[in-house]
Amino acid sequence: MKMPFRFIVLLVSGIAWLGSAALGQSSEATKRLLERNKMFEPQVIKVAENVYTAIGYQVSANTMIVGDDGVIIVDPGQLPILASKVRKAFEAITDKPVKAIIYTHSHGDHVNGSLAFYEEGKGIQVWGRANFGSEQKQNTVTGLKAGVRSSNTQGFDLKPEQKTGIGVAIPPERRPAGNMMRDGVPSTNNARRAPLPGKVDPTHTFSESRKRIQIAGVTIDLVAAPGETADQLYVWLPDQKVVFAGDNFYQSWPNVYPLRGTARRSIRDWITSVDSMVQEKPKHLIGGHTTPIIGKASEVLTNYRDAMQWVYSRTIEGAQKFMTPDDLVEYAALPERFAKLDYLADYYGSVEGTIRDIYAQDLGWFDGNALSLHRESPKKQSQRMADLVGGVDVLMSKARKAMKADDALGAAQLAEHVIRLQPNNKGAKRLMGEALAIVGERTFNAPMRNYTISTANRLLKEAGADK
Ligand SMILES: [Zn+2]
Repeated sequence: MKMPFRFIVLLVSGIAWLGSAALGQSSEATKRLLERNKMFEPQVIKVAENVYTAIGYQVSANTMIVGDDGVIIVDPGQLPILASKVRKAFEAITDKPVKAIIYTHSHGDHVNGSLAFYEEGKGIQVWGRANFGSEQKQNTVTGLKAGVRSSNTQGFDLKPEQKTGIGVAIPPERRPAGNMMRDGVPSTNNARRAPLPGKVDPTHTFSESRKRIQIAGVTIDLVAAPGETADQLYVWLPDQKVVFAGDNFYQSWPNVYPLRGTARRSIRDWITSVDSMVQEKPKHLIGGHTTPIIGKASEVLTNYRDAMQWVYSRTIEGAQKFMTPDDLVEYAALPERFAKLDYLADYYGSVEGTIRDIYAQDLGWFDGNALSLHRESPKKQSQRMADLVGGVDVLMSKARKAMKADDALGAAQLAEHVIRLQPNNKGAKRLMGEALAIVGERTFNAPMRNYTISTANRLLKEAGADK
């Protein structure tokens, strides 16, 4: 079909405009997150002579170790329908049967695909630690469940054009429909559609710190490695010098504090476990979600350990000098030698959140400031602010001015004071919603970004401004 030149130019510029509109204002943060998604093109990567990792098929990385008369699968992934595509890709490499499955930990996005590889009665060994599933048990004790905090963090309910993914997994628009799991948490919207598929529990567990097994002629060490979860292990292949870190490593600052709040994680344990991997002197490193590190495992894990240790030590040191968590966010930030490394960037975990969590876990809620012992209610604080500037209307006009001056964060803070004093003020909700949408779009850490934009959407909906 022939088209006049002017029409083609219009068409092309129209497509370009659509593209940029879909990316919102495309801050540097958005561009970097979208750029990162290129990592998750579906592919099988050969890590060592007999080790193959599938990336981009599921939200987690899935690996096949090829032995003499069979294969071992490390982390079958989150869903049998997706895991069976991984199996097909692996079968193109070898038709040897599955002899064993190893779970690095009990999160559903690593475990629930097991039925694609497991067949009853074939003597397939399924390995995990003896405390497999301890996190879920802990949540049962506290009564805390994955809820709105979780879905806000993962961005499950964002509009398609607002979704950029969560920094360490395939972006949502590329995921097929179904019951999706991320970081052990089912999607609230998808969970309503389909029940969870069955999964295979470990048939073999170990409670010692290190267990050596031989499967299909391959020597495998399973090593207890609490960190992202208490039931985490790492897999070490001494002959191939490959370490499988599970979720104790992915190319991002570690998610030491998940915003959803459930199941606390110990950075001290995490550092010890990364150090233990460093001591193995590995060549290659397979993380829980991102592409494998080939040839540079020792260097990368050493930096990972040292950066976490630096943040921990600096936070404790500052706390002993009476610094508050707010002060420590600057004081314990990563120095340039770590900050410049892409695999330590805030894609998924955040350094700031880690600093605040270290403080909260080791010192509790009291930040050392005497006035924190005499806090007024949020409404009273907002009333003081309104009195100071000359009334609620002045607060509102200051919020609008801030928005015009491109100070979206300032606008959101001022509008929040108005909402506390006038809970039904739709204008203030709309302004705060619009301001938070901008703040979120400029936020690089994916969970913080998703949470902020989800909150913006709720406020705009309440203000009747939702399109
Ligand atoms: Zn994971």
